[in-house]
Amino acid sequence: MWKSFARLLAAICALFLLISCGTAGGSHDRGTTSKNDSAKKERVVTDESAKEKEQAQNDENNQSSRTETNGDQKAITVVNNPSSILVLVNKTHKLPDGYAPKDLVYPNVRFPYKEKIEKRKLRAVAAHALEEMFAAADRAGITLYGESGYRSYDRQVAIYEQNVKTHGKDKAAMVSAYPGTSEHQTGLAIDITSADMLSAGDPLTAKFGETKAGKWVAANAYRFGFIIRYPKGKENITGYEYEPWHIRYVGKKAAKYIHDHNITLEQYVEADKVNK
Ligand SMILES: [Zn+2]
Repeated sequence: MWKSFARLLAAICALFLLISCGTAGGSHDRGTTSKNDSAKKERVVTDESAKEKEQAQNDENNQSSRTETNGDQKAITVVNNPSSILVLVNKTHKLPDGYAPKDLVYPNVRFPYKEKIEKRKLRAVAAHALEEMFAAADRAGITLYGESGYRSYDRQVAIYEQNVKTHGKDKAAMVSAYPGTSEHQTGLAIDITSADMLSAGDPLTAKFGETKAGKWVAANAYRFGFIIRYPKGKENITGYEYEPWHIRYVGKKAAKYIHDHNITLEQYVEADKVNK
């Protein structure tokens, strides 16, 4: 009797240790910014398809993951392919604590502010794709602006904790993303807008989708490897309201498929798993 009780206790302790290691762990290595922009640019662009292939390969080897709970106490999976261009980050899939991409750079595109700050950064592959997309928009007579790209884990923690202090734990989960669940932490997502939206004073609203610029983005982003991550009518799948301004880099192959089939990244990743 005592022996089996002791064994049970040991098992519970081991389990507890495992869970606390998982949630409290995670490296805090910060992303570094590449400075040799132009020399690198060409190589990165030409290497893109090889990179996509390689990263898709990485995905195949990285499907297992573990589970914890978020601010709402919903089951949440910690992804273990955080640097894959196809990584799925949403309200039920989070990045490992402290994850920071290693190849953040400043995309050479227009922003409505001058400061070289964190939210201006993107991962190199997404930054170069964004430069190509903005150049194509320029040629079409559309003036796009970057607004907010990378957001660090530490910054999310600070925002979330401030909200817990101000509004309590329940409300905090509603008004801010639980740390690790913002796609901006991947360095592959950016909020963009147009000159017209900026001069109207509300750059990031659903209205953007109805403008000439918003329509151009919805129709053309896939050609550069981006998708409208939170489309209209897919709220129950993505867990987010329609956000025509939030684009996510997934690579040209996935972006074309998602665009042509009018699906979400959730559905694409799920179908990919099934097909393996
Ligand atoms: Zn966004």
